[in-house]
Amino acid sequence: MIAERATKVKPSPTLAVDSKAKQLKAKGMDVVNFGVGEPDFDTPEHIKEAAIKAIKDGFTKYTPVGGIDELKEAIIEKLEKDNKLTYNKENIVVSCGAKHSLYNIAQALFGPGDEVIIPSPYWVSYPDQVLLNDAIPIIVNTYEEDEFMLRPEVLKEKITSRSKALILNSPSNPTGFIYTENALKEIAEIALKHNLYIISDEIYEKLIYDNEKHISIASLSEEIKEKTIVVNGLSKAYAMTGWRIGYAAGHTEIIKTMTTIQSQSTSNPTSIAQKAAVAALRGNQNCVSEMRKEFEKRRNFLVQELNRIPGVSCKMPKGAFYVFPNISNIFGKKIDKNIINSSMDLSIYLLEKALVALVPGSAFGAEGYIRISYATSMENLSKGIDRISKALEQLI
Ligand SMILES: *Cc1c(COP(=O)(O)O)cnc(C)c1O
Repeated sequence: MIAERATKVKPSPTLAVDSKAKQLKAKGMDVVNFGVGEPDFDTPEHIKEAAIKAIKDGFTKYTPVGGIDELKEAIIEKLEKDNKLTYNKENIVVSCGAKHSLYNIAQALFGPGDEVIIPSPYWVSYPDQVLLNDAIPIIVNTYEEDEFMLRPEVLKEKITSRSKALILNSPSNPTGFIYTENALKEIAEIALKHNLYIISDEIYEKLIYDNEKHISIASLSEEIKEKTIVVNGLSKAYAMTGWRIGYAAGHTEIIKTMTTIQSQSTSNPTSIAQKAAVAALRGNQNCVSEMRKEFEKRRNFLVQELNRIPGVSCKMPKGAFYVFPNISNIFGKKIDKNIINSSMDLSIYLLEKALVALVPGSAFGAEGYIRISYATSMENLSKGIDRISKALEQLI
Protein backbone atom coordinates (compact mmCIF):
# COMPACT_ATOMS: atom_id res chain seq x y z
CA MET A 1 0.00 0.00 0.00
CA ILE A 2 2.67 2.49 1.07
CA ALA A 3 5.34 3.54 -1.45
CA GLU A 4 8.69 1.86 -0.79
CA ARG A 5 10.45 5.21 -0.53
CA ALA A 6 8.22 6.21 2.36
CA THR A 7 8.84 2.97 4.26
CA LYS A 8 12.57 3.80 4.47
CA VAL A 9 12.12 6.88 6.66
CA LYS A 10 11.40 7.10 10.37
CA PRO A 11 9.90 9.83 12.51
CA SER A 12 12.44 12.33 13.83
CA PRO A 13 13.86 10.74 17.03
CA THR A 14 14.36 14.11 18.68
CA LEU A 15 10.66 14.81 18.30
CA ALA A 16 9.92 11.32 19.64
CA VAL A 17 11.76 12.00 22.93
CA ASP A 18 10.08 15.35 23.14
CA SER A 19 6.63 13.81 22.77
CA LYS A 20 7.36 11.13 25.39
CA ALA A 21 8.43 13.86 27.80
CA LYS A 22 5.26 15.79 27.03
CA GLN A 23 3.16 12.67 27.71
CA LEU A 24 4.72 12.30 31.17
CA LYS A 25 4.17 16.00 31.76
CA ALA A 26 0.52 15.68 30.77
CA LYS A 27 0.18 12.99 33.44
CA GLY A 28 1.26 15.58 35.98
CA MET A 29 4.93 14.54 36.25
CA ASP A 30 7.48 17.30 36.72
CA VAL A 31 9.74 16.50 33.76
CA VAL A 32 12.83 18.60 33.07
CA ASN A 33 13.07 18.77 29.31
CA PHE A 34 16.63 18.84 27.93
CA GLY A 35 15.41 17.41 24.63
CA VAL A 36 14.19 20.59 23.00
CA GLY A 37 15.61 21.87 19.75
CA GLU A 38 14.29 25.43 19.84
CA PRO A 39 15.12 28.63 21.73
CA ASP A 40 13.01 29.10 24.87
CA PHE A 41 12.89 32.88 24.30
CA ASP A 42 9.87 34.66 22.92
CA THR A 43 10.08 36.13 19.41
CA PRO A 44 11.26 39.76 19.81
CA GLU A 45 8.51 42.36 19.95
CA HIS A 46 9.44 44.39 16.84
CA ILE A 47 9.28 41.22 14.74
CA LYS A 48 5.81 40.34 16.02
CA GLU A 49 4.68 43.88 15.28
CA ALA A 50 5.80 43.65 11.69
CA ALA A 51 3.63 40.55 11.31
CA ILE A 52 0.63 42.23 12.95
CA LYS A 53 1.08 45.19 10.62
CA ALA A 54 1.20 42.83 7.64
CA ILE A 55 -2.14 41.34 8.68
CA LYS A 56 -3.72 44.74 9.24
CA ASP A 57 -2.42 45.99 5.87
CA GLY A 58 -4.03 43.00 4.18
CA PHE A 59 -0.71 41.44 3.19
CA THR A 60 -2.42 38.07 3.42
CA LYS A 61 -2.42 36.66 -0.11
CA TYR A 62 -0.13 34.48 -2.22
CA THR A 63 3.31 35.98 -2.77
CA PRO A 64 5.89 35.09 -5.41
CA VAL A 65 6.72 31.38 -4.89
CA GLY A 66 10.36 31.87 -3.83
CA GLY A 67 9.67 34.83 -1.52
CA ILE A 68 9.00 38.56 -1.86
CA ASP A 69 11.72 40.79 -3.34
CA GLU A 70 11.98 42.78 -0.12
CA LEU A 71 12.91 39.65 1.85
CA LYS A 72 15.31 38.38 -0.82
CA GLU A 73 17.02 41.78 -0.72
CA ALA A 74 17.28 41.64 3.08
CA ILE A 75 18.81 38.15 2.81
CA ILE A 76 21.28 39.34 0.15
CA GLU A 77 22.34 42.22 2.44
CA LYS A 78 22.77 39.79 5.35
CA LEU A 79 24.89 37.34 3.35
CA GLU A 80 27.07 40.20 2.10
CA LYS A 81 27.50 41.78 5.54
CA ASP A 82 27.90 38.66 7.69
CA ASN A 83 29.42 36.15 5.30
CA LYS A 84 31.11 38.25 2.58
CA LEU A 85 29.01 36.42 0.02
CA THR A 86 27.62 38.29 -2.98
CA TYR A 87 24.41 37.01 -4.54
CA ASN A 88 21.59 38.29 -6.75
CA LYS A 89 17.90 37.59 -6.35
CA GLU A 90 18.16 34.65 -8.80
CA ASN A 91 20.48 33.00 -6.27
CA ILE A 92 17.98 33.06 -3.37
CA VAL A 93 14.89 31.01 -2.58
CA VAL A 94 12.88 31.42 0.62
CA SER A 95 11.09 28.35 1.98
CA CYS A 96 9.02 27.22 4.95
CA GLY A 97 12.00 26.79 7.29
CA ALA A 98 15.57 25.67 6.67
CA LYS A 99 14.37 22.07 6.86
CA HIS A 100 12.19 22.76 3.84
CA SER A 101 15.11 24.42 2.05
CA LEU A 102 17.18 21.28 2.68
CA TYR A 103 14.38 19.09 1.40
CA ASN A 104 14.05 21.13 -1.80
CA ILE A 105 17.80 20.79 -2.34
CA ALA A 106 17.53 17.02 -1.92
CA GLN A 107 14.70 16.94 -4.48
CA ALA A 108 16.60 19.13 -6.91
CA LEU A 109 19.96 17.34 -6.70
CA PHE A 110 19.60 13.72 -5.57
CA GLY A 111 18.41 10.72 -7.52
CA PRO A 112 18.59 6.91 -7.50
CA GLY A 113 22.11 5.67 -6.76
CA ASP A 114 23.55 9.06 -5.84
CA GLU A 115 25.70 8.96 -2.72
CA VAL A 116 25.47 11.80 -0.25
CA ILE A 117 28.21 12.04 2.37
CA ILE A 118 26.99 12.91 5.86
CA PRO A 119 29.45 13.30 8.75
CA SER A 120 28.18 11.81 12.01
CA PRO A 121 27.07 12.93 14.57
CA TYR A 122 24.52 14.38 12.13
CA TRP A 123 21.29 16.32 12.37
CA VAL A 124 18.53 13.72 12.27
CA SER A 125 16.80 14.80 9.07
CA TYR A 126 19.79 14.62 6.70
CA PRO A 127 19.86 10.84 6.11
CA ASP A 128 16.08 10.56 5.86
CA GLN A 129 15.78 13.40 3.35
CA VAL A 130 18.39 11.64 1.22
CA LEU A 131 16.46 8.35 1.47
CA LEU A 132 13.19 10.05 0.56
CA ASN A 133 14.79 10.97 -2.75
CA ASP A 134 16.03 7.43 -3.49
CA ALA A 135 19.65 8.38 -2.91
CA ILE A 136 22.10 6.74 -0.49
CA PRO A 137 23.34 8.37 2.72
CA ILE A 138 27.03 7.60 3.29
CA ILE A 139 27.73 8.15 6.97
CA VAL A 140 31.29 9.17 7.87
CA ASN A 141 32.53 9.22 11.46
CA THR A 142 34.06 12.25 13.08
CA TYR A 143 35.82 12.22 16.43
CA GLU A 144 35.56 14.08 19.71
CA GLU A 145 39.35 14.60 19.75
CA ASP A 146 39.01 16.56 16.48
CA GLU A 147 36.09 18.56 17.89
CA PHE A 148 33.94 16.52 15.50
CA MET A 149 35.41 18.06 12.35
CA LEU A 150 35.56 15.74 9.38
CA ARG A 151 39.12 14.48 8.73
CA PRO A 152 40.17 15.08 5.11
CA GLU A 153 41.64 11.57 4.76
CA VAL A 154 38.43 10.00 6.08
CA LEU A 155 36.40 12.04 3.57
CA LYS A 156 38.66 10.98 0.68
CA GLU A 157 38.20 7.31 1.57
CA LYS A 158 34.43 7.58 1.20
CA ILE A 159 34.38 9.28 -2.19
CA THR A 160 33.33 7.13 -5.16
CA SER A 161 32.25 7.86 -8.73
CA ARG A 162 28.69 8.10 -7.41
CA SER A 163 29.40 10.73 -4.75
CA LYS A 164 27.19 13.72 -5.37
CA ALA A 165 27.31 15.94 -2.31
CA LEU A 166 28.59 16.50 1.21
CA ILE A 167 26.38 17.95 3.94
CA LEU A 168 28.15 20.22 6.44
CA ASN A 169 26.62 21.74 9.56
CA SER A 170 28.62 24.35 11.47
CA PRO A 171 27.92 25.19 14.27
CA SER A 172 26.68 21.65 14.67
CA ASN A 173 23.51 20.20 16.05
CA PRO A 174 24.09 17.95 18.09
CA THR A 175 27.75 18.59 19.06
CA GLY A 176 27.86 22.41 19.29
CA PHE A 177 31.30 22.44 17.62
CA ILE A 178 32.29 24.58 14.65
CA TYR A 179 34.63 24.09 11.70
CA THR A 180 37.84 26.11 11.57
CA GLU A 181 38.84 27.94 8.41
CA ASN A 182 41.70 25.51 7.82
CA ALA A 183 39.47 22.46 8.09
CA LEU A 184 37.00 24.05 5.65
CA LYS A 185 39.81 24.84 3.19
CA GLU A 186 40.93 21.23 3.14
CA ILE A 187 37.39 19.99 2.63
CA ALA A 188 36.74 22.55 -0.11
CA GLU A 189 39.83 21.42 -1.98
CA ILE A 190 38.70 17.79 -1.91
CA ALA A 191 35.16 18.72 -2.92
CA LEU A 192 36.39 20.69 -5.94
CA LYS A 193 38.73 17.93 -7.03
CA HIS A 194 35.92 15.35 -6.95
CA ASN A 195 33.17 17.64 -8.20
CA LEU A 196 31.08 17.35 -5.03
CA TYR A 197 28.32 19.77 -4.12
CA ILE A 198 28.46 21.11 -0.60
CA ILE A 199 25.28 21.74 1.31
CA SER A 200 26.23 24.06 4.13
CA ASP A 201 23.65 24.25 6.92
CA GLU A 202 24.51 27.45 8.82
CA ILE A 203 21.33 27.81 10.88
CA TYR A 204 23.26 28.28 14.17
CA GLU A 205 25.74 30.85 12.84
CA LYS A 206 24.52 33.58 15.24
CA LEU A 207 24.98 31.37 18.29
CA ILE A 208 28.77 31.24 18.68
CA TYR A 209 30.67 31.87 21.93
CA ASP A 210 34.10 32.85 23.27
CA ASN A 211 34.68 35.29 20.39
CA GLU A 212 34.92 32.43 17.91
CA LYS A 213 33.96 33.24 14.33
CA HIS A 214 31.59 31.60 11.90
CA ILE A 215 33.00 30.97 8.45
CA SER A 216 30.87 29.94 5.52
CA ILE A 217 32.71 27.47 3.30
CA ALA A 218 31.18 29.27 0.30
CA SER A 219 33.22 32.37 1.16
CA LEU A 220 36.59 30.64 0.68
CA SER A 221 36.75 31.02 -3.10
CA GLU A 222 34.61 31.75 -6.16
CA GLU A 223 35.01 28.10 -7.27
CA ILE A 224 33.70 26.61 -4.03
CA LYS A 225 30.90 29.19 -3.89
CA GLU A 226 29.66 27.82 -7.26
CA LYS A 227 29.44 24.32 -5.76
CA THR A 228 27.94 25.29 -2.40
CA ILE A 229 24.34 25.81 -1.44
CA VAL A 230 24.21 27.85 1.75
CA VAL A 231 21.21 27.09 3.96
CA ASN A 232 20.14 29.38 6.76
CA GLY A 233 16.97 30.58 8.45
CA LEU A 234 15.37 32.69 11.13
CA SER A 235 14.32 29.95 13.57
CA LYS A 236 17.35 29.75 15.84
CA ALA A 237 18.84 33.26 15.66
CA TYR A 238 15.56 35.13 16.23
CA ALA A 239 13.57 32.57 18.24
CA MET A 240 11.18 32.17 15.29
CA THR A 241 10.79 28.38 14.99
CA GLY A 242 7.03 28.57 14.56
CA TRP A 243 7.13 31.17 11.80
CA ARG A 244 8.71 28.77 9.30
CA ILE A 245 11.12 30.92 7.31
CA GLY A 246 14.36 29.52 5.94
CA TYR A 247 16.33 30.14 2.79
CA ALA A 248 18.95 28.79 0.43
CA ALA A 249 21.57 30.66 -1.60
CA GLY A 250 23.43 29.12 -4.50
CA HIS A 251 23.87 28.59 -8.20
CA THR A 252 21.09 30.10 -10.35
CA GLU A 253 20.10 26.81 -11.96
CA ILE A 254 19.77 24.92 -8.67
CA ILE A 255 17.81 27.77 -7.07
CA LYS A 256 15.51 27.96 -10.10
CA THR A 257 14.86 24.21 -9.88
CA MET A 258 14.15 24.43 -6.15
CA THR A 259 11.71 27.27 -6.80
CA THR A 260 9.90 25.22 -9.44
CA ILE A 261 9.66 22.26 -7.05
CA GLN A 262 8.28 24.61 -4.41
CA SER A 263 5.76 25.99 -6.93
CA GLN A 264 4.37 22.47 -7.37
CA SER A 265 4.36 21.54 -3.68
CA THR A 266 3.98 24.19 -0.98
CA SER A 267 3.94 27.46 -2.98
CA ASN A 268 5.19 30.51 -1.10
CA PRO A 269 6.12 30.61 2.59
CA THR A 270 3.52 32.50 4.66
CA SER A 271 3.17 36.12 3.54
CA ILE A 272 2.94 37.41 7.11
CA ALA A 273 6.00 35.50 8.28
CA GLN A 274 7.97 36.90 5.33
CA LYS A 275 7.26 40.45 6.52
CA ALA A 276 8.32 39.44 10.03
CA ALA A 277 11.55 38.01 8.60
CA VAL A 278 12.33 41.32 6.87
CA ALA A 279 11.91 43.08 10.22
CA ALA A 280 14.17 40.50 11.91
CA LEU A 281 16.97 40.79 9.35
CA ARG A 282 16.84 44.57 8.93
CA GLY A 283 15.93 45.55 12.49
CA ASN A 284 18.10 46.11 15.54
CA GLN A 285 20.27 43.04 16.18
CA ASN A 286 20.56 43.57 19.96
CA CYS A 287 17.91 40.90 20.55
CA VAL A 288 20.24 38.35 18.94
CA SER A 289 23.22 39.25 21.11
CA GLU A 290 21.09 39.27 24.27
CA MET A 291 19.90 35.73 23.62
CA ARG A 292 23.42 34.71 22.67
CA LYS A 293 24.80 36.03 25.97
CA GLU A 294 22.20 34.15 27.97
CA PHE A 295 22.95 30.91 26.08
CA GLU A 296 26.67 31.38 26.74
CA LYS A 297 26.10 31.72 30.49
CA ARG A 298 24.04 28.54 30.53
CA ARG A 299 26.60 26.63 28.48
CA ASN A 300 29.39 27.56 30.88
CA PHE A 301 27.35 26.45 33.88
CA LEU A 302 26.22 23.20 32.28
CA VAL A 303 29.66 22.07 31.13
CA GLN A 304 31.18 22.81 34.52
CA GLU A 305 28.45 20.88 36.34
CA LEU A 306 28.49 17.91 33.96
CA ASN A 307 32.23 17.46 34.40
CA ARG A 308 31.68 17.11 38.16
CA ILE A 309 29.58 13.98 37.62
CA PRO A 310 31.64 10.76 37.76
CA GLY A 311 31.53 8.88 34.45
CA VAL A 312 30.60 11.97 32.42
CA SER A 313 33.07 14.05 30.44
CA CYS A 314 32.02 17.09 28.50
CA LYS A 315 34.13 19.21 26.16
CA MET A 316 33.25 22.91 25.90
CA PRO A 317 31.29 23.36 22.67
CA LYS A 318 31.61 26.60 20.73
CA GLY A 319 28.16 27.21 19.37
CA ALA A 320 24.46 26.29 19.04
CA PHE A 321 22.59 25.47 22.28
CA TYR A 322 23.61 21.88 22.90
CA VAL A 323 26.30 20.06 24.80
CA PHE A 324 27.28 16.55 23.78
CA PRO A 325 28.88 14.82 26.78
CA ASN A 326 30.67 11.51 26.50
CA ILE A 327 28.91 8.96 28.71
CA SER A 328 30.64 5.79 27.50
CA ASN A 329 32.27 5.27 30.93
CA ILE A 330 28.82 4.56 32.32
CA PHE A 331 28.25 1.59 30.02
CA GLY A 332 28.23 -1.72 31.86
CA LYS A 333 26.88 -0.21 35.08
CA LYS A 334 23.76 -1.67 36.64
CA ILE A 335 20.59 -0.69 38.41
CA ASP A 336 18.69 -3.63 39.89
CA LYS A 337 18.97 -6.18 37.09
CA ASN A 338 19.17 -3.68 34.26
CA ILE A 339 22.49 -2.91 32.62
CA ILE A 340 23.09 0.43 30.89
CA ASN A 341 24.66 -0.57 27.60
CA SER A 342 23.79 2.26 25.25
CA SER A 343 22.94 5.95 25.12
CA MET A 344 19.31 4.88 24.55
CA ASP A 345 19.35 2.77 27.76
CA LEU A 346 20.70 5.76 29.65
CA SER A 347 18.15 8.16 28.16
CA ILE A 348 15.26 5.88 29.07
CA TYR A 349 16.65 5.41 32.59
CA LEU A 350 17.04 9.17 33.08
CA LEU A 351 13.58 9.89 31.73
CA GLU A 352 11.79 7.24 33.75
CA LYS A 353 13.77 7.40 37.01
CA ALA A 354 15.02 10.98 37.11
CA LEU A 355 12.32 12.67 34.99
CA VAL A 356 14.95 14.28 32.74
CA ALA A 357 14.34 14.11 29.00
CA LEU A 358 17.34 14.19 26.67
CA VAL A 359 18.31 12.64 23.34
CA PRO A 360 20.62 9.60 23.03
CA GLY A 361 23.68 10.05 20.81
CA SER A 362 22.58 7.06 18.74
CA ALA A 363 19.75 9.21 17.32
CA PHE A 364 22.51 11.27 15.67
CA GLY A 365 24.57 8.26 14.60
CA ALA A 366 26.99 8.59 17.55
CA GLU A 367 26.89 5.97 20.32
CA GLY A 368 28.51 6.85 23.65
CA TYR A 369 27.09 10.38 23.90
CA ILE A 370 23.93 12.18 24.90
CA ARG A 371 22.65 15.53 23.69
CA ILE A 372 21.54 18.05 26.28
CA SER A 373 19.82 21.20 25.08
CA TYR A 374 20.27 24.32 27.17
CA ALA A 375 17.39 26.15 25.56
CA THR A 376 15.81 26.21 29.00
CA SER A 377 16.11 28.32 32.17
CA MET A 378 19.09 28.25 34.58
CA GLU A 379 16.69 26.99 37.20
CA ASN A 380 15.75 24.00 35.04
CA LEU A 381 19.38 23.35 34.16
CA SER A 382 20.39 23.18 37.77
CA LYS A 383 17.38 21.02 38.70
CA GLY A 384 18.07 18.63 35.81
CA ILE A 385 21.79 18.33 36.55
CA ASP A 386 21.01 17.55 40.16
CA ARG A 387 18.64 14.79 39.13
CA ILE A 388 21.06 13.30 36.61
CA SER A 389 23.83 13.32 39.16
CA LYS A 390 21.66 11.56 41.79
CA ALA A 391 20.36 9.00 39.30
CA LEU A 392 23.89 8.14 38.15
CA GLU A 393 25.01 7.68 41.76
CA GLN A 394 22.52 4.82 42.04
CA LEU A 395 24.29 2.85 39.32
CA ILE A 396 26.82 0.26 40.40
C1 LIG B 1 16.59 23.54 13.68
C2 LIG B 1 17.48 23.06 12.58
C3 LIG B 1 17.13 23.21 11.22
C4 LIG B 1 15.77 23.63 10.74
O1 LIG B 1 15.28 24.79 11.17
P1 LIG B 1 13.94 25.39 10.57
O2 LIG B 1 13.09 25.65 11.75
O3 LIG B 1 13.34 24.42 9.62
O4 LIG B 1 14.37 26.64 9.87
C5 LIG B 1 18.05 22.83 10.26
N1 LIG B 1 19.24 22.33 10.59
C6 LIG B 1 19.60 22.14 11.87
C7 LIG B 1 20.93 21.57 12.14
C8 LIG B 1 18.73 22.50 12.90
O5 LIG B 1 19.08 22.25 14.16
